[in-house]
Amino acid sequence: MNWKIANLKDLEGKIWRCTACGTCKTAYDFGPPPVAADICPAGVEFGFEGALASKGKIAFARGILNGDLPWDEDLVQSIYQCTVCGGCQNQCQLDHKPFIPEIIEAMRRKAVEDGVGPMPLHKNLLNSMRNYDNPYQGPRRVRTDWTRPFRKTTPIKDINKEPAEALYFVGCTGAFNMAARSVPTATANIFQKIGLDFGILGENELCCGSTAMRVGDAEEFKRVAEKNLQMFKWLHDERGMNTIITSCAGCYRAIKKDYILSADYDKLMDGIKVIHTADYLYGLYKEGKLEFKGELPWKVTYHDPCHTGRHLNKFTIDEDGSQQWKGSYLSVDESECLYEQPRELLKAIPGVEFAEMKRNRANSFCCGGGGGVMTGFGDWAAKNAGLRMAEAAETGAENVVSICPFCYFNLTEGAKRIGSSLKMYDLTELVDKVLVGKK
Ligand code: SF4
Ligand code: SF4
Repeated sequence: MNWKIANLKDLEGKIWRCTACGTCKTAYDFGPPPVAADICPAGVEFGFEGALASKGKIAFARGILNGDLPWDEDLVQSIYQCTVCGGCQNQCQLDHKPFIPEIIEAMRRKAVEDGVGPMPLHKNLLNSMRNYDNPYQGPRRVRTDWTRPFRKTTPIKDINKEPAEALYFVGCTGAFNMAARSVPTATANIFQKIGLDFGILGENELCCGSTAMRVGDAEEFKRVAEKNLQMFKWLHDERGMNTIITSCAGCYRAIKKDYILSADYDKLMDGIKVIHTADYLYGLYKEGKLEFKGELPWKVTYHDPCHTGRHLNKFTIDEDGSQQWKGSYLSVDESECLYEQPRELLKAIPGVEFAEMKRNRANSFCCGGGGGVMTGFGDWAAKNAGLRMAEAAETGAENVVSICPFCYFNLTEGAKRIGSSLKMYDLTELVDKVLVGKK
């Protein structure tokens, strides 16, 4: 399968467009009231004016490309000290803006190609993917442990054996991370309540490959992505599957944005829609197909995962120079970012009082776990999550809701880290509590 995954050389023209202005330091919201706050987790931890935040990272890309910066331990570590959250991309207004996360990941791909990357702890994760098809070193049979409560009374369809309209792509974090198992449990409960014809792949589900891609192992990403794309095609042709629903932000981003780099994507995904649970449930709610009963008298705030937010930006570039100059950045389309759907659903739940965090939507502050940071720099990931939970606490909320099992786990660690009583929930858990099932 042919893939269009850029290397550093492909991005050379973009790398030289960064002026080191530092606009990428701060998230702005002109309000009212106006808000300006740090946006770069790496800058917050290591200092923005040093080499480790976004503008420094792009300077590294130049040095690696022109040979001025030979690899050493510090340099390798530096390019992995980034959550690839896209916060800097959101703030930057220059022409390389659409390519900033790509530049960071291309440096990591170069490190892997040159045999110096990724970080030692990432290597365990990648070995686990090669051995078990998941990054958690979990045997394949454990992937279905979360389905135990369903087995006797309301078994979940095995789509390998039976036809189903929808594939619920669970994702490795929901399946293997004990704390995050409440996410697939609530999701499957909801799907059963609404009578959705869905199935899971169970032990045959493979990692989406997001983690491998984020840490620069393009070969491992391609291995699982190709198998997944072929599996999706088979499920469509042989099992009548026409929709992939996932409750994981990382899987959603990978299938929507990384898989389209395959030359065969359109052919293999023809007739298949990919949707996040939050978007799917919001669609049903808008059509009047979700009935809520009872009250949830909770004060909640919402954390935007980077992967369902600004990672889904679509950029308009002046390809032929007819509007500004060739290759210039023109505008950003946020219509695919899942900003409003989870908020509207939360506000629709009877009794819920919603409070917004200072940094939200495109200006959301990353939980700190993405881009391989939770594996490579666990202590920093939890510390950053603590900062985000402290911001959540400022709203007066007692509960934080999100739509990503990875944020769910890391923010739970963050709350522990700062001794906060704030509780973390997935949106599906709240919906499940009040959703009336079909008889
Ligand atoms: S990435 Fe953009 S905002 Fe940041 S220093 Fe470079 S040009 Fe300025
Ligand atoms: S992607 Fe996020 S962590 Fe990385 S440099 Fe940009 S703002 Fe900082």
